[in-house]
Amino acid sequence: MGDLDLILLIVKEEGTLCPFCLGSIIGSKLVAPNYIKGAAMREVLKALNRGGENPCVICGNLIPKSINTMVNEAMNKLRGIEFRSLKAAVILPPTIIEREDRIRARYNPPYMESVKLTLIKWLDLVLSSEIGAEVSNEPDVLITFDFSKKNVFLKVSPIFIYGRYRKLKRGISQSRRKCPYCGGKGCEKCNRTGKIAEGSIEGMIGEIMKDIFEAEDYTLHGAGREDVDARMLGRGRPFVMEVISPRKRVADLELLEKKINSMWRGIIEVRELKFTKRDKVVRIKESSPNIKKLYRAVVEVEDGITEEDLDGIEKTLTNAIIKQRTPKRVLWRRADIVRVRKVYEVKTRKINNSTFEITVLCDGGLYVKELISGDDGRTKPSVTEVLEKKAFCRELDVLEVFGH
Ligand SMILES: [Zn+2]
Ligand SMILES: [Zn+2]
Repeated sequence: MGDLDLILLIVKEEGTLCPFCLGSIIGSKLVAPNYIKGAAMREVLKALNRGGENPCVICGNLIPKSINTMVNEAMNKLRGIEFRSLKAAVILPPTIIEREDRIRARYNPPYMESVKLTLIKWLDLVLSSEIGAEVSNEPDVLITFDFSKKNVFLKVSPIFIYGRYRKLKRGISQSRRKCPYCGGKGCEKCNRTGKIAEGSIEGMIGEIMKDIFEAEDYTLHGAGREDVDARMLGRGRPFVMEVISPRKRVADLELLEKKINSMWRGIIEVRELKFTKRDKVVRIKESSPNIKKLYRAVVEVEDGITEEDLDGIEKTLTNAIIKQRTPKRVLWRRADIVRVRKVYEVKTRKINNSTFEITVLCDGGLYVKELISGDDGRTKPSVTEVLEKKAFCRELDVLEVFGH
C-alpha cells in the first residue's frame, strides 16, 4: 500500500486529523517538520474531498487550538531572561497518547513519530528561529508546554562559577546556617530562604552573585572545608558557586571579584573567578588522593616544652602514617571509622615555654586538631603521645590546599 493510500484509509476509517496529528502519522519519511507535512497533506485531502471537518480524532483539536497561545505565553515568560540555548518539553493528556497508540497498533504507519516528538521538534524550531537561540540538549532554559493544563513553565539552568576563597578572620563558617526562626522552612526573617547569609563564606559571596545575576538562590560547593575557627590563607580554597535560576548569565567576573573583595576587605577574599560547568562541582568535591594541605597551628602544652621536645615531634611525625578514628567532636554527624593519612613534613618553632608553632604538610582529610591533642588515643601517633604531655591546638590556619 502506498503512503497516500494508507493515509486515505486511516482518514476514511478514523475521521478528521489536525495537521500535527496527521503529520505525526506521516512521520519521518520526508525531511521537513511533521506539522508542515501534515498541513500539506490536509490540503491534498481537501482537494480529494476527504479531509473531514470534525475535530481531530487524536487530540480533539486541543493542539491546534492552544499551541499559538502557549507559544505566546512562553515568549512572555522568557522576556528579560538571558539565555543562549533552549529546549522544549511537552506534556500531553493521556487520552491523546492512548488514541495515537491505537492508530499505530492498527495501521502500523512505517514512519510514524509520536505526537509528543512532533510537537517538541516544532516548538524547538518555532522558538529558536523566533528568538535566535540555539536548540540544545543541555539548554540554558527548558520550556515545558503542558497541554493537559494549557500551562507553560520555565526551568532556567544554573550557572557555575569557579574560584578560590581566602578566609582572613576566624569564626566564619563555610555554609549558611539554618534560620533559627523557622528551622529552615523559610520565613520573613530569612527572606523565605530558610538560611542566614551573615557569617558564612557562602552567604558573603553568594548574596553579591545573586544580585548581579538576578538569581533566586545559590549553593557553594567547596573542595573540603576548614573549621569555623580556622583561617584559610595562601592561594585559598577552591570552590564552585552554583547560581540558581539566574535571569542574567553574563557578567564581568574581574569586576565581580573586586566588588566582593572591597565589600569584605580583611574578612574574606576571592580570586581566579571563572565560569565553569556542572562537572567541575564533582571534580572539586572528589577527595582525590593527590590533595595535600599545609597547616599552621599554635600549640599549647600543659607541662611546658623544651627544644628537645620539638626535635622529637619533627622527627617522629615527619613521614609518619597516622591512624585516626573519627574525632569525638564530629562523631555526632560522621560514622566512626579509622582513616589512614600521611604526614609529609612537620616543622616547629618555639614561641614561649608552653607554646609553639607547628606547620604540617599532610594528606587532605587529616584532622589536625586531633593530630595535636591525640583525641584520647583515637589519633595515633599525635603530639600529645610523642611528648607524653597534654597538648592542644589553640589556633589553626590552612596555609595552602595543593592538588586542584
Ligand atoms: Zn490533532
Ligand atoms: Zn526563617
